[in-house]
Amino acid sequence: MDENKKPRKPLIYYYLSTLIIVMLLNAFLFPSMKSLSTEEVDYGKFISMLENKEIKDVEVQSNEIVFTSSNSNDKKVYITGKMDDPDLVNRLEKAGVTFSKVIPQENSPIVNFLLTWISPILIFALLGQMFSRMLAKRMGGPGAMQFGKSNAKVYVEAQTGKTFKDVAGQDEAKEALTEIVDFLNNPDKYKQIGAKMPKGALLVGPPGTGKTLLAKAVAGEASVPFFSISGSEFVEMFVGMGAARVRDLFKQAQEKAPCIVFIDEIDTIGKKRDSGNGVGGNDEREQTLNQLLTEMDGFDGGLGVVILAATNRPESLDKALLRPGRFDRRIPVEMPDLAGRESILKVHAKNIKTESNIDCNVIARATSGASGAELANIVNEAAIAAVKDNRNLVSQKDLEEAVEVVIAGYQRKGAVISDKEKKIIAYHEIGHALVAAIQTNSDPVHKITIIPRTSGALGYTMQVSESESVLMSKEEAFNKITTFTGGRAAEEIIFNISTSGASNDIEQATKIARAMVTRFGMSDKFGMVALETVNNPYLGGDASLTCSPETATKVDQEVLSIIKEAHEKASKILRENIDKLHELSEYLLEKETITGSEFMKILNSENLSENESSETQIIDDNQSILDIKK
Ligand code: ADP
Ligand code: MG
Ligand code: ZN
Repeated sequence: MDENKKPRKPLIYYYLSTLIIVMLLNAFLFPSMKSLSTEEVDYGKFISMLENKEIKDVEVQSNEIVFTSSNSNDKKVYITGKMDDPDLVNRLEKAGVTFSKVIPQENSPIVNFLLTWISPILIFALLGQMFSRMLAKRMGGPGAMQFGKSNAKVYVEAQTGKTFKDVAGQDEAKEALTEIVDFLNNPDKYKQIGAKMPKGALLVGPPGTGKTLLAKAVAGEASVPFFSISGSEFVEMFVGMGAARVRDLFKQAQEKAPCIVFIDEIDTIGKKRDSGNGVGGNDEREQTLNQLLTEMDGFDGGLGVVILAATNRPESLDKALLRPGRFDRRIPVEMPDLAGRESILKVHAKNIKTESNIDCNVIARATSGASGAELANIVNEAAIAAVKDNRNLVSQKDLEEAVEVVIAGYQRKGAVISDKEKKIIAYHEIGHALVAAIQTNSDPVHKITIIPRTSGALGYTMQVSESESVLMSKEEAFNKITTFTGGRAAEEIIFNISTSGASNDIEQATKIARAMVTRFGMSDKFGMVALETVNNPYLGGDASLTCSPETATKVDQEVLSIIKEAHEKASKILRENIDKLHELSEYLLEKETITGSEFMKILNSENLSENESSETQIIDDNQSILDIKK
């Protein structure tokens, strides 16, 4: 990646001064006969002068011969190239000249090294300091330089080297962007008919879904340069600098058109202007934004500069940015679904050496809710694990372990947990798994472990979606809550205690129950009334109530009663299957990690009738791991 900046003047001064100093050093430290009046002659002349006895003395150096004339009027020093002449010594003797062989003046290696390598560096450093001090003085204070220097770099890539093939899934986004690629490839086609291409398109989606990647792929597909700048880099700058950068960026882009200008994290500069919190602080951002708007309006749309921007909080953008002629296209970039995850894994698995039997589908199923970036990370972690193990192919097991590493953190080596705690954790996890398996329409268990992770999870139950759907029925939602309460229920039944380990479960269960009441219209009491709106679906999805305080109280009661009911159901299931609960928990305690099939074998050994589960499962939430945290 090139850092495209105008070279600063002082840099040239450094070079010049260094050059001069090195030359001077050379002249002082290595004086030679050359500095006297010299004449270069050819070897033939040397021989003929030698034969005519016109030479007084001769000095044979490593690759030249220096001699003086016997003519006392001639004070010149002659130089000739040294030939491979075995007769030379004979001839010199015959001519009766004084001669010597000079071993080239050798400094000790250390001195040589110091002179050739260290001294230029020292000089460089000294000069650099001098100049920066001078500059800083001129700019007012030593801090000034450091500030302006580090921020808002414009990056240019002549060729991004990425194409749509590198972007797995995201078919809709790709289709929307194909039009832009086509425009960049044949601008005339559009000009002829009088069509103006949109100047800008906004890529909207959660972090890690491939927005930057898509922008690069557009540039790659159209084989045009890619200018990129990140909004967050403007934040700490001096007033006026951001605006100047924007001006600069667009000037460069127009010179290089057709090209792509990519503004990452545009929300950091493009926030609604009125929403500012009063006095000061926002001046810089506002100026930058205004400059951006001016530039976007200013340049000719037919030129072939297409501006792409990315954000994960579109709702906070200033309306002015979204007006026609600016970012009027909005391209959603969504989290990958099952098929999308599988193809992303495949794209990245191509770049590493894997065993032939790896199955990306299994990994994709275990990573519901993972973004493209996380999946790329999983593949990379697997490759690292293989290297650590001195293998040259990545196995399915590496990938499976990597899923846990990326999702749950690294295995915590040496974490000490008392036996009693371990037992509680085992029962807690089996509680989840058992409740999940016994209920119909619940995820079949994929893996249960009580090996603690650095993320703070002391153990977890991993569920695998059989198929994927965005719809969740009321029954499924309720079953899910029941599964979440299963951990706590097991603790209560067996140990008659409640631990803090269930805090995450409670949070998850509450979230679903709340959504059932306020957004999904799944409670009899309220029916289909939206009592909440989600503020930002891309970032955590905080919701705010849109109902009166009295209704809010009733909502809380309803949520409570749903969870209570689920908790009772979970307890009932566990009491009815208490033998299995003991058996499975003991087994888990011993093995620490058990797979879904082991779990099912033990569960099915006697009461097959009770297990009608694991056929269908249509839940896609982002929480396929039920963990307990400290
Ligand atoms: P964003 O800009 O949306 O935060 P990035 O484009 O920076 O996400 O994605 C980060 C990395 O994740 C990419 O470099 C790529 O390796 C991987 N990635 C994300 N989405 C995809 C995808 N759809 N196909 C292939 N790789 C992806
Ligand atoms: Mg990005
Ligand atoms: Zn739990």
